[in-house]
This record gives sequence, C-alpha cells and structure tokens, in this order.
Amino acid sequence: MVDPARVRRLNSKAELDGPVVCWISRDQRVRDNWCLLFASELAASRRVPLHAVFCLAPGFLGAARRHYSFMLRGLEPLESSLSERGIPFHLLTGDPAREIPSFAGELNACAVVCDFDPLRLKRRWKSGVARALEVALFEVDTHNIVPCWAVSDKQEYGAYTLRPKIHRELPRFLTEFPTLEPAGSWGGGGADWKAARESVGAEGSVAEVRGWKPGEAEAMKTLERFLEEGLSEYAGRSNDPNSGARSDLSPYLHFGHISAQRVTLEVSGADAPSTAKEAFLEELIVRRELSDNFCFYNRHYDSSKGFPGWAQKTLDEHRDDPREYIYDFRKLERAETHDELWNVAQQEMVSRGKMHSYLRMYWAKKILEWTRSPELALKTAIRLNDRYELDGRDPNGYTGVAWSIGGVHDRAWKERSVFGKIRYMSQAGCRRKFDVDAYIQRVDADAELEKGPASSA
Ligand SMILES: Cc1cc2nc3c(=O)[nH]c(=O)nc-3n(C[C@H](O)[C@H](O)[C@H](O)COP(=O)(O)OP(=O)(O)OC[C@H]3O[C@@H](n4cnc5c(N)ncnc54)[C@H](O)[C@@H]3O)c2cc1C
Repeated sequence: MVDPARVRRLNSKAELDGPVVCWISRDQRVRDNWCLLFASELAASRRVPLHAVFCLAPGFLGAARRHYSFMLRGLEPLESSLSERGIPFHLLTGDPAREIPSFAGELNACAVVCDFDPLRLKRRWKSGVARALEVALFEVDTHNIVPCWAVSDKQEYGAYTLRPKIHRELPRFLTEFPTLEPAGSWGGGGADWKAARESVGAEGSVAEVRGWKPGEAEAMKTLERFLEEGLSEYAGRSNDPNSGARSDLSPYLHFGHISAQRVTLEVSGADAPSTAKEAFLEELIVRRELSDNFCFYNRHYDSSKGFPGWAQKTLDEHRDDPREYIYDFRKLERAETHDELWNVAQQEMVSRGKMHSYLRMYWAKKILEWTRSPELALKTAIRLNDRYELDGRDPNGYTGVAWSIGGVHDRAWKERSVFGKIRYMSQAGCRRKFDVDAYIQRVDADAELEKGPASSA
C-alpha cells in the first residue's frame, strides 16, 4: 500500500511483539496520511493493535499562543476521528526524546512509526528516540509528494535543478490514497485537552488570531473555496495582495491538516485554465519541496553560513555600507518605520497571522536594508516570521527568508549598496505590480474592524 521509498529506518533495533505506535507530529491528520497508513499496515500484518500518540513539547521554536491554540483545536477532532476507526489516541506532554520511548516501553510496543520533518529540533528528538527505544523506529515522509530523500541526495541549487527530478518521480508517487482501514476496537487512550492548553509555555504577548478555523474539515473547505474562487486567476493575479488569487492553505499545510498530495490531486482535476494550475502546482510542489530539500541537506538553513558562497562574499563586501535607516527589533515589530507599505504588511502579519506571499519578499529584503548586518537581518526576520505567521517555524519560512536576504536558490543581480549582488526590491516595483494604496486602505480598514471589544484573547 505504501511505497517503500517513503519509509526509512532510523535505528537497527528489532521489531518485537506488541502494539504499533504511530507518533504523529508534523502531519496532524487522519485522512491521506502515509505515516498512519504505514503504521496501520504494519499493525494489521502482525495482528496487533495500533496506537496513535502526539507529544506536546513545552516549547517549539518560539511558537506563540496563536500557534498552540490553532494546533490543539486541530488535534481535538483528530482524537475522535481516530477512535471512530478503532485507533486509541494518547496525548503526552514533555520532551519527546524521553516521553515517546517511555510510552512505547509501557505499552510493550513492537515498533514506532513517525512522520518526517527536516528541521533540526525534530531531528534531535528523533535521534534521541531512536537511541532510547528498545524497538524499531520507522520514519515516513507523508509531507512531500516525492519523498525528500528519494527525489535528491544533495542540496539542490534551485528550482531549476529540483524541478526535473520531481517531475520524473511524480507518476510514481502522485497516486490516490488508500482508505485507512478500521483497526478493530482496541480501546484505551484519551487526552486531557484542558491540561494540555494550560501546559504550553507559549509566548504570552502575542495575541491569538481570529478568522482561522483549524482542522481537516476546515482545510478541505479552504481548498474548495480556492478551487471555486481563486485558482482560475492564479497565473495572472497571485502577486497582487488585493486579489483573492492565493489559496490561504499554508497554515493547514504547515500543521498537516491537509496533504499537499490531496491538494495536487484536487487542483489537477479542477475546471480551471492549465496555466493557472501549472503556476499553482509549481509553488505547491516544486517550491515547497525545495524548502524541505534545503533544510534537510543544509544544517545551517537558519544562519548566514547556509547562504551560497557568492552571497556570503557580496554581503561581506557591503557590510560597512552606510544605511539610510536603521531600526531595532522593537521598532520593526511595532511597525514604526518610515515605509507605510512595510508597516501595513507587518501589521497584517501581526493581526491576521498571515502576510501575502509577494509582500513577504519585500518585507524581508527591507529588513536587510534597515539593520546593521546581514546576520542581524536574518535573525530578526526569522524571529518575527516565527512569532507572528501562523504558518511560521516551517522549512518554507527559513528558505523564504534565506532567499530574500541570502540569495539562496537565486542568482547574482546588479551590484548596489548594502545588498551587494542580492536581488533588490523597491516600493516602486510593488506599485508596478499592484495598487499599493488600495492594499494599505484595506488593511487599515480591517484593523479598525478588529479593534472591536473581542479583538484579542
Ligand atoms: C520572507 C518569506 C517568508 C516566508 N515564510 C513562510 C512561512 O513561514 N511558512 C510558509 O509556509 N511559507 C512561507 N513563505 C513562502 C510563501 O510566501 C507562503 O508559503 C505563502 O505566502 C503561503 O500563502 P498561500 O498558502 O496563500 O500561498 P499559495 O500561493 O496559495 O501557495 C500554495 C502553497 O504553495 C507553497 N508555496 C507558495 N509559495 C511558496 C514559496 N515561495 N516557497 C515555498 N512554498 C511556497 C505553500 O505551501 C503554500 O501554502 C515565505 C516566503 C518568504 C519570501
């Protein structure tokens, strides 16, 4: 059922007797989940129960209350959805490197199956689990359509080198998902959601965001809305923040409430111009999977050491160039710069939890222009992105920031002050792409509405 190339072993321990444990982490869904499908297949072949577990770590890369709230409200329905299929769900709290082996030990599990994530913290957890477990640990890439380790064995230079490799493998991996078979009623499990909400040490100063409903059902509704209202215009209007041509799927993809493979299957079959479908699938498949490739093969993905050599050299040569404006973290966070477009984009990220894709590039490049060094610019952009974007703390975020500030996956451009040969963006360029004033007015009007009595939790 599950292509063996999607699965790899993270230790060489034996598969003993006892239940299979599916450790859900990045891909928090029941439907269209290769990790659960593999775990269920393993349990069925051994005629043993399958248990699903999520481990809530006390902190995660600066995640704030808005992120924990979105995630926990998305996990709650997962519990009932799993139990309808006879799979008990357990919610653990603490360091996964300790909690998962101890849970598997108490259960006398025969094997643990986890999902794939290229981020360092997740990889640290997994190597701890792999060492401490008495039994086998399998990892399944259920986030990428073409498994990250199967499409390429090295860091790719850019979309132009990854694209042909992905397209070569799509006929093999872009298949319909089988149904998750009911596991029989084994019983057990249960989660204390109130205690879980109280246990997270989230960044308290960052308010929750309104207007986003988490979970698999909401993710599907968002996709359906996009298929009906946005997709047809994607090729021509996706760089215009005043159009509705973007999908808004990134928070759902980030938390794994929807599978990119499901989105691809639905978009491929939709009634829309082929140029629109191709443009969207280029972002959803090639650009997104390029980010996983970057973070998987470059352990410096969030540091200037991860920039290509030409970019490190040019940024260093322009390190001491005079900056017309310099803003510290607080000024940037509070959107107190001289640039109204930048301020409004920043405010939209803070209040709505999502900045438009085109503005994210402009936003990050201006941080390079207005801070004392490229290293500080990178750190500042990542900190703001991870704190406020609902889809933050994601390979796409680290790669997007590294693209904007450090030329990752890009080429050298005409040399100029501060940026050196890093691609530059100006407000005049934005004005040629879309109606900047209309955008500012719209976000300002939304902010006025938000100032109602229940504006933040
Ligand atoms: C500075 C900067 C920071 C970014 N931070 C994040 C982040 O924290 N999390 C995040 O998911 N994306 C990030 N991106 C990538 C991109 O901007 C977002 O994925 C996109 O804005 C999400 O909105 P959407 O789902 O409506 O996009 P759509 O245009 O509808 O695209 C659909 C999906 O394709 C993928 N995608 C689209 N554009 C890109 C891209 N440039 N690179 C990789 N994948 C892409 C995403 O998974 C997205 O959800 C960042 C980009 C930049 C330049």
